[in-house]
Amino acid sequence: MLSQAYLEYRCPRCGYINAIARETVLDMYKEQSDACQHCQQKLEIIAANGINDQINLIVSEQEDGAK
Ligand SMILES: [Zn+2]
Repeated sequence: MLSQAYLEYRCPRCGYINAIARETVLDMYKEQSDACQHCQQKLEIIAANGINDQINLIVSEQEDGAK
């Protein structure tokens, strides 16, 4: 199995595939904030252990609060 330096996740808003450094998400189950590089939507990323040592990223849109 390759040890990836980056993990990919899909923006739930526009579908763009973003990459995040693996070391950034190593803090398992802790929320990470990032923004989609395409639509600038603020995203909340939670990493979870998947099968076979894979890391699943759960991505959801973050409320801006400035509406
Ligand atoms: Zn996006």
